[in-house]
Amino acid sequence: MVFNPYGFKLAIITMGEEFTWVKAMPCDCYDPRQNYDAQRGCDVCDHGQVYESQGTQKGIVEAVKRDMLHPDLGWIQMGELTLTTIQADVPFGKFDKVVLTQRAEFERETLSRGADDLGHTYPVAVIEVRDSDTIYVQDTDYEFDDVNNQIDWLDGGDAPDNVYSVEYTHQPEYWHIGRGLQPSAPQPAAGFGMVIGKPTRTGLLSLTAPEG
Ligand SMILES: [Zn+2]
Repeated sequence: MVFNPYGFKLAIITMGEEFTWVKAMPCDCYDPRQNYDAQRGCDVCDHGQVYESQGTQKGIVEAVKRDMLHPDLGWIQMGELTLTTIQADVPFGKFDKVVLTQRAEFERETLSRGADDLGHTYPVAVIEVRDSDTIYVQDTDYEFDDVNNQIDWLDGGDAPDNVYSVEYTHQPEYWHIGRGLQPSAPQPAAGFGMVIGKPTRTGLLSLTAPEG
């Protein structure tokens, strides 16, 4: 069977799922003349990178069902995801992130009054807020602030003394890990003229930050 790059490109456009590409740029808190360990106090960046959304893209997300050796990505472990995109559309760089905006995952966390930030960056909805005595009522006792990703306790409502638990959903967020492959030399393709390099690109979606 002949591989048809145009068919695959069409599949990504029609069947792919939407994600947000979040681009990483090195933070100016990092002075290359100094030791990296000195930068821990910065609250603008994550792992020395400042993240900025580049908008919605489409790609095909596939779950890895068993450990496999990928020619470009190396060993991929069960439970990780691969993301295939049209190469020219999403020029991923090292430390870039991907948010799977059509998916939601559950999370349960313990928070305390005055430190009411949810642990994930892209929460969708708060399901339950409680402590051992009370289940608190949304919009009576608290509000979900989806701009600042936190629980806001309302005046006049019930509130926990200190520690409480939150159940919520969030869009899963991954680091995009790939090799940053450059297009190879133009190749003739029958009926289509010249094709520049590989039309698609597959990267690994990892919950673990890339090294270095
Ligand atoms: Zn920083």
